[in-house]
Amino acid sequence: MKIQDDILSYREMCDIEGVQTLQRGMNYRLNPRYTVILMSQRSNAPYQDKIHEDGITIEYEGHDVSRQSYQHNPKDENQPSKLPSGRLTQNGLFIKAVEEYKNEKREPELVKAYEKIMDGVWSLKGIFELIDYKIVNDGKRNVFRFILKLTYKNVLGNKDYKQVEISHTRIIPSEVKKEVWKRDKGRCVICGETKNLHFDHDLPFSKGGTSLTVKNVRLLCMKHNLQKSGRIE
Ligand SMILES: [Zn+2]
Repeated sequence: MKIQDDILSYREMCDIEGVQTLQRGMNYRLNPRYTVILMSQRSNAPYQDKIHEDGITIEYEGHDVSRQSYQHNPKDENQPSKLPSGRLTQNGLFIKAVEEYKNEKREPELVKAYEKIMDGVWSLKGIFELIDYKIVNDGKRNVFRFILKLTYKNVLGNKDYKQVEISHTRIIPSEVKKEVWKRDKGRCVICGETKNLHFDHDLPFSKGGTSLTVKNVRLLCMKHNLQKSGRIE
C-alpha cells in the first residue's frame, strides 16, 4: 500500500502517532524514529509552504517566537533557534539535525508530513528527509526554511509498503487536494465509499506535464486504489 496521500481524520492521525492531541506544527522526534510536521495551506495560513521544480522537495517554514502578550506580534521578530535559557527550540533542533547530517555524523532526520485539507480532514503528504535549511528575510525579519525531500525508501519498515519509483511521482499540492476533496464530495469517485480514502493521481509528468492539477487527481477508496495499481504494475 502506498502511504502517501492517504486521508485521515484528526483522531486517526493522532492515533497513528500515539498521542492525544497534535497542536504544534513542528514535533521533533515525536516518535523515537521520526519527526512529525503539520502543514496548513488555507489562504490565511500563518506559514507558506512551497514545492520545488523537481516535484518532490518542499520548503517548510519554521515557527515564530511565542506570543508574549496581547500587543506582542510574533511576526515582527526573527524566528528563534534558542530560548532565552539557551535551550533549543523546534527550529534549533531541526537545524542541529541538518548540520549533523551535512557533517556526515548521522543520516538525515525522517519527517512525516501531514497536511490539513479542511477541518477534520488530514492527508499524509509523505515521508521526507530533512536535508537542508536556509534563512530568508521576508521583508521585515528572518525566517527559517527547512528543505525536505520525499523519500520512497521503506524507511519505517512498514510491511504493507509498496515501492514506487521516485522518478514517477510528484507531490500533490495541498490546494489541489482541497479542490479535489470538494469536487468529489469526500467520496470514492467509483463506488461512493467515504472511508479509507486516498488521493489518486495519474502521471502527467511522464506525459510531459510538469504539475499535478485538479484534472488528474481524484478520490479513490482503498479497494479501487488497489485495483488500479494492480492494473498498472
Ligand atoms: Zn471505491
